Amino acid sequence: MPVTKYIFITGGVLSSLGKGIATASLGLLLKLRGFSVTALKFDPYINVDPGTMNPYQHGEVYVTDDGAETDLDLGHYERFMGITTSRLNNTTAGQVYYEVIQRERKGYYLGKTVQVIPHITDEIKRRMTIFDGQYDIVLIEIGGTVGDIESLPFLEAARQLCLERGSQNTLTLHLTYVPYVRSAEEVKTKPTQHSVKALMESGIRPDILLCRTEQRLSREIRSKIALFCNVDEEAVIEALDVETIYEVPHMFARRGLDTIVLRKLGLQGKPLRMERWNRFVQRIKNPRYEVTIAFVGKYTQYRDSYKSILEALTHAGAVANARVHIRWISAEELSLDGVVSNALEGVDGILVAPGFGSRGVEGKIAAAGYARRQNIPYLGICLGMQCAIIEFARNVCGWPDAHSAEFARTAHNVIDLLPEQRKVKQKGGTMRLGAYPCVIRKGTKAWEAYRQELVYERHRHRYEVNPDFLPTLQQHGLLVSGTSPDGRLVEIAELRHHRWFVGVQFHPEFKSRVPEGHPLFVHFVRAALRYRQQRQAIATEVAQGA
Ligand code: GLN
Repeated sequence: MPVTKYIFITGGVLSSLGKGIATASLGLLLKLRGFSVTALKFDPYINVDPGTMNPYQHGEVYVTDDGAETDLDLGHYERFMGITTSRLNNTTAGQVYYEVIQRERKGYYLGKTVQVIPHITDEIKRRMTIFDGQYDIVLIEIGGTVGDIESLPFLEAARQLCLERGSQNTLTLHLTYVPYVRSAEEVKTKPTQHSVKALMESGIRPDILLCRTEQRLSREIRSKIALFCNVDEEAVIEALDVETIYEVPHMFARRGLDTIVLRKLGLQGKPLRMERWNRFVQRIKNPRYEVTIAFVGKYTQYRDSYKSILEALTHAGAVANARVHIRWISAEELSLDGVVSNALEGVDGILVAPGFGSRGVEGKIAAAGYARRQNIPYLGICLGMQCAIIEFARNVCGWPDAHSAEFARTAHNVIDLLPEQRKVKQKGGTMRLGAYPCVIRKGTKAWEAYRQELVYERHRHRYEVNPDFLPTLQQHGLLVSGTSPDGRLVEIAELRHHRWFVGVQFHPEFKSRVPEGHPLFVHFVRAALRYRQQRQAIATEVAQGA
């Protein structure tokens, strides 16, 4: 059993500095150095999970195989480190308090006053060490910014663990911001000094500072930070802005981050080999081709809501050797026929995003109709698949009232709740969540992509294709290419006479990994690229003929 080493990652000065990506990047480097690594995220909010939070508040809800609705940073961990996380990898303050209060009600603490220290911090430590002995290294990312009231119990738990496990087995890394002030033509170290001071007030002395900055940090600046923050000079690491997040691991490696971390933890490790990773990054940065995909969604202003889909498109682009340009289209503005053709004119593929609630649904249905009629490659994810089926039922099967029961009760609810969801009363954590098996039918687009009979994909929805209407839908040309093993649930639907039209009830984006990407995204991007090249070839012929 290995003695597990713990690395705590905290953040200071301001949020959105990319702590999740820094954690995932360090995790990748340590994995490439030969260690078994996992990463945990601790979120200081009181919600039990982000499942019921608005995407504007929290960005995407990332779903694990075991059906936990989690923070989107787990997506970065899975994509960068190639690991599979579970509900054990994400803890919120809400879960910690819930657990402690339930124990209190059961009489577990009889006679005692239940307090933040030690009861809350003990429960946090239990969760921080849940993989003790199972991995060489566990990365622990603490959400929020140092100095927030909410983060205090998590920092206290981290401090206690550092003391208990000793300095050979623990390490803290603090991500800060070093702004460039134009009027003074200088980078400023004061915010970093303050945030390290705040961290030290919690009893934690950072071993390594990762300094986010837009300008290179001179040796002088780094020694100044080292001196004022009480950190080794070599451990003040500049984290410059880069073109793609996938360059971050290499940038850290160039600054020696992995070597410093291993030395401080008393580990050796094998030499770092990043050829495969770097080839992938090169493909992202300098691809040969281009495609434009229309992204039809409700939160086009707030792109963190679609993080995993965007990353899956990036991975697929790298595999297909194409830069994927996104044309953002707000579903709400898309419901009229003339508007649809204007907005979608000239794109090489159309992706309709997942979603909940009726806002923008008619626009999504219109986009699916446009893709169907114009024979444009289409990928519909979850609600995007349901909208494609509603459109097909209305305009091909001739049921103008066809709809999902989520939005209207009609005689043709082609999308509906199945009995197991009808019983559900509570909102949080009660959807069809997590990985389910899907049997792929041979001779379909889905088969061309997967080339496997049985796949597992992650779900997050309540509604399903209504089996009552399936025979008619199929008679009119809908092809069911993936189902649950008992054949009851439609997991993938396609159009028979179309160049590439695939709707999936699940979320393939959660399983797209570097560098191979996800088969459905790769085939969607390839179909879009072929469609573009065909149109270009025709245009050239016409021009030459003229
Ligand atoms: N709102 C739909 C449902 O619950 C689709 C959900 C989604 O797109 N993730 O079934």
